[in-house]
Amino acid sequence: MKKILIIGNSLSAWSVASAFTNKKVNITIIGNKNNTFGAQQLSPNGFRALKKLIQNDDVKNIVYEIIKFQINSYNNDETRMLKNFYFNEFDLKYFSVSREMLINFLIKNVKNNIQINEINKSCVGIIQREPGKLEVLMDNKELISADIIIGCDGVNGITRKYVCGTTNIVKKQVFRGTSNDRKQLLLKQKTLELSFSNYGHFISYPFFNNNKTCINYVFIPNKLFQNSNKILDKLRNISKFSPIDWNEGHYYFYEDEIQTIHKNNVLLFGDAGFSFEPHLAQVGNNIIEDANYLKFLVENTHSYDEIFENFSRNTFKKKSELKSISNIVGISFGMNSFTKIRDSLVSNFSDKLMSDFLKKVWYD
Ligand SMILES: Cc1cc2nc3c(=O)[nH]c(=O)nc-3n(C[C@H](O)[C@H](O)[C@H](O)COP(=O)(O)OP(=O)(O)OC[C@H]3O[C@@H](n4cnc5c(N)ncnc54)[C@H](O)[C@@H]3O)c2cc1C
Repeated sequence: MKKILIIGNSLSAWSVASAFTNKKVNITIIGNKNNTFGAQQLSPNGFRALKKLIQNDDVKNIVYEIIKFQINSYNNDETRMLKNFYFNEFDLKYFSVSREMLINFLIKNVKNNIQINEINKSCVGIIQREPGKLEVLMDNKELISADIIIGCDGVNGITRKYVCGTTNIVKKQVFRGTSNDRKQLLLKQKTLELSFSNYGHFISYPFFNNNKTCINYVFIPNKLFQNSNKILDKLRNISKFSPIDWNEGHYYFYEDEIQTIHKNNVLLFGDAGFSFEPHLAQVGNNIIEDANYLKFLVENTHSYDEIFENFSRNTFKKKSELKSISNIVGISFGMNSFTKIRDSLVSNFSDKLMSDFLKKVWYD
């Protein structure tokens, strides 16, 4: 039986483990449990892939349906609505989901189907003693052997370094918060809101947080305010967002073009393999889609070499395209000048164009 080590303990790791639930393999997940925070958007491609990946319909119990996408311009404490787009008018299903609930859901599904070993520790290196025989060096100097390693340890992980060497990684500041303010919940029912401001852009949407409904907020400062020590004060002074307790964080993505995602039976998956700016809310959705594709390959391909080759070849193109689109979208969201032109273009964007754009991002 092949011994597979999955390094990481987050969305990618448990999505990958879900890809092996119909296979006879020995799987070990290595990684510290981290506190996942807030929610993420689940677009039609991600939702469809999730249902196929776990082969059960219970996922509908943890997702919150969003029916409206509202784009605003927010300046000097005044909100101007630029565009409303209704997903159901184009037969599109859009959701949000708590990150913690999503990961717990995947964990439960994996454990209901296969036996899995978990090592709640970090590893520090990968060693190849002979072809096809790998070892992982743990932080306590213990060595764990493996036939296959799947790197789900994120942008800054050790598997990326093993496969690709040094990569240029870009780090950007982001603020996140959640709230269960009743008034805001009433105002924002079933709505995904994007608000442009002089300081950067805000994204908010409701989600189910265990037995409560909460709102997830993300703020990405624009170029002028990235890493400015005044930005938190500015946020606290914006009345619409002032009650939110903002948590500062960072997101990371690769500047370099993707070259390869596998070497010597080590496959990179999720953020460890591809990562781009989060403006299309697609990185996580693509993780679920890719896990579903990996599941198909695992169940229908004989050799792991072939699985890795097919997986890399067939996921590269889409990621490169999404990376470029996300980059352009991010530039337009974070504009400091010509904002009137941007706002006017957004206001005049037809529903049909919007739907065609979203379908291109989700399905092409
Ligand atoms: C602001 C923002 C908003 C986003 N919104 C959305 C959204 O709405 N929809 C969407 O689909 N996606 C969204 N994303 C993207 C999505 O959140 C990420 O792509 C996803 O969480 C990445 O998961 P991952 O498991 O690949 O990596 P990570 O979440 O980075 O997990 C890596 C794991 O590896 C572990 N690890 C690291 N090093 C080691 C080691 N040496 N040994 C053992 N374990 C190790 C870590 O502890 C962690 O558990 C957003 C991202 C950002 C930044």
